[in-house]
Amino acid sequence: MKTIDKIYINGEFVTPHGKQVLDIISPTTNQKTGEVTLGDEVDTQNAVAAAKDALKLFSKTTKEERIAYLEKLRSVISRREKDLTDIMVEEYGGVFQFSSMVARFAVDDINAMIDTLKNFDFEPTTGKSKVHLQPVGVVGIIIPWNMSNGFIVTKLSTAIAAGCTAVVKPSEMSTQQTQVIAECFHEAGLPKGVVNFVNGLGDVVGAELTRNPDISKIAFTGSTGVGKIIAKGAVDTMKRVTLELGGKSPNIILDDANLEEAIPTAIIAAFLNSGQACAAATRLIVPESKLDEVNIIAKAVVEKLKVGDPKDSDTTIGPMVSKKQYERVLDYIKIGQEEGATLLIGGTDKPEGLEDGNFVKATIFTNVKNNMRIAQEEIFGPVLSIIPYKDEQDAITIANDTAYGLCAYVSSADKERAYRVASQIDAGRVCINGLSHDSKAPFGGFKQSGIGREYGVFGLEEYLEAKAILE
Ligand code: NAD
Repeated sequence: MKTIDKIYINGEFVTPHGKQVLDIISPTTNQKTGEVTLGDEVDTQNAVAAAKDALKLFSKTTKEERIAYLEKLRSVISRREKDLTDIMVEEYGGVFQFSSMVARFAVDDINAMIDTLKNFDFEPTTGKSKVHLQPVGVVGIIIPWNMSNGFIVTKLSTAIAAGCTAVVKPSEMSTQQTQVIAECFHEAGLPKGVVNFVNGLGDVVGAELTRNPDISKIAFTGSTGVGKIIAKGAVDTMKRVTLELGGKSPNIILDDANLEEAIPTAIIAAFLNSGQACAAATRLIVPESKLDEVNIIAKAVVEKLKVGDPKDSDTTIGPMVSKKQYERVLDYIKIGQEEGATLLIGGTDKPEGLEDGNFVKATIFTNVKNNMRIAQEEIFGPVLSIIPYKDEQDAITIANDTAYGLCAYVSSADKERAYRVASQIDAGRVCINGLSHDSKAPFGGFKQSGIGREYGVFGLEEYLEAKAILE
């Protein structure tokens, strides 16, 4: 049995004032594996006070000092890559291949931030004015359960680069991962109070961060619904907010694409992190004339995918994070059937031999209309909608006909054509011919997928205030 009974405030692992205890349930077996004691408003206020105090000195550190902290952090995280991977697999059933990639990206992201910081000018001149870019202040960081440590590292390394201090509230479903990452930040030897971690519920710890007048900015990753609550709450104290929210990413297969390559790649992008990824390419938009061919290839690819134990290196789809999430995905599969989409493969039955955990069959609907709920709403599970289009313009219209605008994908044999189509899609990141990651390229959403950007210079500027000094 695991016991998480400490939170991290002012450089120490301390017993929380909060008394609420939550069971930790394994998504793979649905058995209780431990308990976590949650923090409350008092713990949050203590953490904010520590961060506010630490800001006095940390906001005055030089860029070279902050680079040195980030370099130390990079070496600690690099050394603990395996622990970070294993805990992600254990805690939320992230499949091994994906979890190890997230741990590796954490190191890449710190590297990219070090490089960005080295080249960043905090006192640029514009016209006849000198501009001072100074840390925004104490940042409240609110994180979802999926890829939790990756988001914590991205946000905290940016905050540190800017000279900010922070209080992190992880998801109540990712407290074990947070324990490991908090140990890494502790070992990196940052001054006391620069980073603090408070486990707790969204409407307790998250709400306190949102309203606390000593927090200058909220950096949030999570659902669009909670993002709206945070944005409204932050207005009272005029906090800066960056919101990384949900998605329903389109994947346009142009008519010149090699389907034998593009469709297997599309399936991987759709079922990324067992479909529990904001960037999952859940709408596959294909030429009407090639729909039958696409269906045959997609079905054959999915038949070979392994749904099962996330620890196995050949598993593509692990369990849903919780019973609630499992039931939500099944509800959407039923909705798809009721809406008249054709179930190509998968469905609501449990995959054979996996009766105990929150496992869902890899599911594809075809002949989907873009106005159906399964094409418009974020399901957050392994459910793909194949949507036929008439011509290139129709494909772009369908891609943009969504409230979201986080990511998009385009496949074509002609790169220039793919770029031309990519430039017409309303999304913060468009990948051509498959998934890719760039720790310096901006990441964030158009429309209801969010406000602001992360990574590189674009991300760093979100943690700074610009002050013009004129003579
Ligand atoms: P969620 O919105 O339910 O929770 C996210 C965090 O917000 C949690 O820590 C939660 O405790 C907290 N929270 C809940 N209510 C709150 C409140 N009233 N005030 C303050 N905080 C509150 O999301 P989730 O289920 O943990 O994660 C899945 C969602 O996150 C999906 O919608 C997914 O698309 C999105 N997501 C987006 C990105 C991105 O980069 N755009 C990345 C990963 C996940």
